[in-house]
Amino acid sequence: MRLPWEEMIENMPVGFAYRRAVRDQNGQVVDYVFLLTNHAYEKITGLNREDLIGKSSEEAIPHIREDSIPWIKIYSEVVERQEARTFERYSRVLHRTFHVTAFPVFKDDFATVFIDISEMTALRERMEEKQFELEELNLALYKESITDPGTKLFNRRYILELLNKEVSRTERNKKPLSVALVDIDFFKRVNDTYGHQAGDLVLEQFSTRLQQWTREMDYVGRYGGEEFLLIFPETSLAVASQVLDRIRWQMEALPFQVGEVNLQITFSAGVAVYQGEAIHQLLMRIDECLYAAKNAGRNQVIWVEKEKEE
Ligand code: GH3
Ligand code: MG
Ligand code: MG
Repeated sequence: MRLPWEEMIENMPVGFAYRRAVRDQNGQVVDYVFLLTNHAYEKITGLNREDLIGKSSEEAIPHIREDSIPWIKIYSEVVERQEARTFERYSRVLHRTFHVTAFPVFKDDFATVFIDISEMTALRERMEEKQFELEELNLALYKESITDPGTKLFNRRYILELLNKEVSRTERNKKPLSVALVDIDFFKRVNDTYGHQAGDLVLEQFSTRLQQWTREMDYVGRYGGEEFLLIFPETSLAVASQVLDRIRWQMEALPFQVGEVNLQITFSAGVAVYQGEAIHQLLMRIDECLYAAKNAGRNQVIWVEKEKEE
């Protein structure tokens, strides 16, 4: 006949084990023996009480000292400090993840409560993995939504959004903001002479160069077919035009390789500095410069020093 409290311990829905620390001749806690275990403890650890009761952990559980949980160290601290410890860890030996609370009872006696959280932990890990995948996917989708597939530059919608942002920033920090439109010269001829695919290759290389030859802080976007919008934050008109002119002669000097042929590609550009006007007006001003550059014979950069007074 079991006493009521024995019945209670036996039927507790959590694993329960009552243990006693074992000391060596120097008084160091070196192991512990099992005094009592309940049904749930057997169930979640997979150990039989016949193999446990009266035995040290070393006798009862093979490889216990190589486990991922330093049981003896933790339990010796519970006994020495007379302090409860709670931890959640995976046991390599028992192949389960446990939530364990160990608490001192009397002298070298201590008790442990075991809850098997393997399923919960696995579920949590799967959820975290899914969350991570979702974030990756979101990032990929976002990148795709702002990228022009042909050139890998920002697409038109996004470069205009950036222009909006930079204009607002300029309004706040009062630093100059320069903006440019770049249009490849006689690009139709490339298509007509070497084919559309060759044209695509030139566009790709051209875009890579624009990206490489501008600063990290500058933005390059594909504005249209063979037209690009460049944003130079915190940059004066003089500096932006210098930068563009340098890119212009580098572009002209370095031939484009398309299959067997080397092509010389040039561009014309219009540049302006933001002067508080509406964005479409700024773009119009730049477009006028670009148009002037084309009319003046192409392969040049034209900028307006100051907006015409009304
Ligand atoms: P201009 O010096 O006056 O700018 O002459 P252009 O030939 O460069 O200008 P035009 O506007 O007459 O022609 C632009 C050409 O660019 C026509 C169009 O087919 C081509 N184009 C636009 N987008 C692409 C593209 O993605 N791939 C290819 N291969 N060609 C493109
Ligand atoms: Mg063109
Ligand atoms: Mg064009």
